[in-house]
Amino acid sequence: MKPVMSPYLVPFKGRLKPSTLTNEPPGDAPGKKGCRKALGKEIDRLDELQRRLYAEDRRSLLILFQAMDAAGKDSTIRAVMTGIDPSGCQVFSFKQPSKEELDHDFLWRTTQALPERGRIGIFNRSYYEETLVVRVHPEYLEAQRIDIPDGLDQLWPQRFESIRQYERHLSENGTVILKFWLNVSKGEQRNRFLSRLDEARKNWKFSIKDVEERQHWDSYMHAYHQTLEATSRPWAPWYAIPADDKPYMRWQVARIIRKTLEGMEPRYPQADQDEAKRFAEMRQVLNNES
Ligand code: ATP
Ligand code: MG
Repeated sequence: MKPVMSPYLVPFKGRLKPSTLTNEPPGDAPGKKGCRKALGKEIDRLDELQRRLYAEDRRSLLILFQAMDAAGKDSTIRAVMTGIDPSGCQVFSFKQPSKEELDHDFLWRTTQALPERGRIGIFNRSYYEETLVVRVHPEYLEAQRIDIPDGLDQLWPQRFESIRQYERHLSENGTVILKFWLNVSKGEQRNRFLSRLDEARKNWKFSIKDVEERQHWDSYMHAYHQTLEATSRPWAPWYAIPADDKPYMRWQVARIIRKTLEGMEPRYPQADQDEAKRFAEMRQVLNNES
């Protein structure tokens, strides 16, 4: 399947372009109201496409989100899910790995959460944490108890290769993959943390750890850029969505999901000749009931 075109699609070869790495909507984007309206339209269309995907029951769609804290992962996932039949969609969040998860290779825990055929699966964080937070904090590797014979410089390219092959395998076996990086700026993250401190109903979202992680901003950006460049491929494209304006961000994400589903052309199964004959018989049985 051909990836959906978007100015935010990360190229499959070469370096990320500054134009792909913007935090803000373009000058000619509709205002917040216009974006909300456009999002509503996308969501209406998602519903029918998802029903067909479910009825067809042959392929699945994996949608994965990565972002710095407060970029809006949760609210984007909520927005996209509205209007989709909950039985056809599964969301999984991946936090610090458990002891059991650390006893396995780094692709193990997410593998069990992959969407079944006919379903949409959403990953809130993913195996990509292994080349992002773990790259920023290589001390986390100690808990993984793996040998790193060639040193850290070789570990990240090896992980990229594992991920590329893994995603290729999934795509060759019926899983369509979409990856979103919600690209918030450091200044906007600060504003959002401040409003979490200032507004009582947002206090619960505030975490001291998030402010500590922010001190590693440049290392995170380096890790993101390297990861996106190494793992955006036609079978598993990355989209770097500007995240400083939430309505615009949600609309862009929904649009790419809707277009991807359209490109998949999911179809309701058609009755074959035998089935059509049996249907005619059953219709007669029902019609003959008094
Ligand atoms: P929220 O939006 O509610 O804050 P969250 O996804 O940030 O949700 P937290 O519990 O705040 O959830 O943070 C989860 C933490 O787990 C993140 O800092 C993330 O980087 C970390 N994490 C996820 N996967 C791994 C991993 N494989 N190794 C180490 N840390 C991980
Ligand atoms: Mg958090």
